[in-house]
Amino acid sequence: MAARLHARLALDLSRSIDPFRVAEDEGIWVVASALDSGLAGYYLREGYAIGICVNNKEPFRRQRFTAAHELGHHYLGHGSVIDRSDRVTAEAATDIEIAADTFASAFLMPLGLMNRILTRLDLRNLPVLSASDVYRLSVEAGVSNAAAAWRLWELGRLSRGDALDFSKAGPRDAKRQLKGSALLGAARGDLRVFKDPSEQIDIILRVGDELVVDVRSSKDSGLNWVWDHHDQGTLRLGANAPVAADGRSRLWAVAFAPGVFGGAIVLTTSGGDTIERINVYAKVETDDTQRGLSPRQAEARVRSLMA
Ligand SMILES: [Zn+2]
Repeated sequence: MAARLHARLALDLSRSIDPFRVAEDEGIWVVASALDSGLAGYYLREGYAIGICVNNKEPFRRQRFTAAHELGHHYLGHGSVIDRSDRVTAEAATDIEIAADTFASAFLMPLGLMNRILTRLDLRNLPVLSASDVYRLSVEAGVSNAAAAWRLWELGRLSRGDALDFSKAGPRDAKRQLKGSALLGAARGDLRVFKDPSEQIDIILRVGDELVVDVRSSKDSGLNWVWDHHDQGTLRLGANAPVAADGRSRLWAVAFAPGVFGGAIVLTTSGGDTIERINVYAKVETDDTQRGLSPRQAEARVRSLMA
């Protein structure tokens, strides 16, 4: 079902899939609004008008999964339904809810996309994936840690025990394991780690996300890795700090305001000459997770659908 939909919509399966965009392209109105806690979203079908709503108080990657789940209700021909946040773990999950979750998982994480991400992250041939591997993959796919863990179990890449452990533990431990030191970004922000980048870093962050760049050690050579930039309005930049474990140097940044950052990480001599340069372009998006249409836009969309 999900695979046929990917084909019909001619979606690019090399990048994370945007369920909000798909809904709008399909003529489904989309609203993100602050719902009561405990509610993930809902699907509404009234006559010709079809809409989905997600709770924008939940983490953004969770909202993407809810949107895909509501699309599942739509494509599977279900009626209007209100979804609670705990539906995935609820013992009393109905067949309809299980079917919508299965759709959402396959829709956001098709095999082709998962394999591409595993390859990109150098995880494709690892026999056993760690909690931090699963976390990195979840960020790339734009799904929650738990959703990624269960999909990897379905695809035979995680044991059921590991999938259960990783989804229960949540991303915090995985982030700490990945970084190897204290986290500086927001509790709910993402951690993005680059090791020995050879090309420029081109990245979209959300406010509260943390970026870490590990580069080969230079302390014995008289050379030093530093940030080269003009503006600290978007990223808060951290100085060159040696990483004790393997003698590398580490530069970090925390995204703290929406905007665009253009700068570089440069290897310089004590005299200030640049030996090597890795350009860094970061677009920082707001952590206000409002997505889709405003209620007024949604109402107009419904009216035009019913006209
Ligand atoms: Zn549902």
